[in-house]
Amino acid sequence: MEIADLKAKIRDIKDFPTEGILFKDITTLLKDGPAFRYVIDVFVRRYQKERVDVVVGIESRGFIIGGALAHQLHAGFVPVRKFGKLPGKTIEVEYELEYGRDALAIHEDAIKPGQRVLAVDDLLATGGTMGATLRLIGQLGGQVVGVAFMIELSFLHGRDKLKEHPLHSLIVYD
Ligand code: AMP
Repeated sequence: MEIADLKAKIRDIKDFPTEGILFKDITTLLKDGPAFRYVIDVFVRRYQKERVDVVVGIESRGFIIGGALAHQLHAGFVPVRKFGKLPGKTIEVEYELEYGRDALAIHEDAIKPGQRVLAVDDLLATGGTMGATLRLIGQLGGQVVGVAFMIELSFLHGRDKLKEHPLHSLIVYD
């Protein structure tokens, strides 16, 4: 298995969820056992020496990768969700979308100050979602040791918004 093999397993869906968007559908990769395992193994090799305490995954595809990765790294898992979904006391942050604004939330007791955090999502586009997530982690005093994506759309330059932390993506489209 190589990165090129992974690329071949990601399906492009035109005009989803709205016209003009080329949606990267990862369900076609995830259903393939060896491909899913390869993705997780590559991340595990990269981050196992970082002594990660907590993996933070972003709703909802970040949960799939983040959950598997947390298990392999012997770390905890913390979800970042859309506003209004988490049951306990939360802190929230608003962020810019292409059209309008949205809000993300994390439980206020999810991360202890100083804990080593790896933030994970399936795809980096403009960087707004991960930028907001990193603000939440920062507010709780987490120490971000890595920011990981399965896919990066490098032509959207999201990476430029996330310069403070070491960022790694597996599959890059440019
Ligand atoms: P952004 O905040 O612009 O970096 O967008 C990242 C979030 O939106 C991630 O949670 C992705 O799952 C989702 N996303 C954005 N663009 C795409 C795309 N072309 N295909 C699939 N998911 C996308």
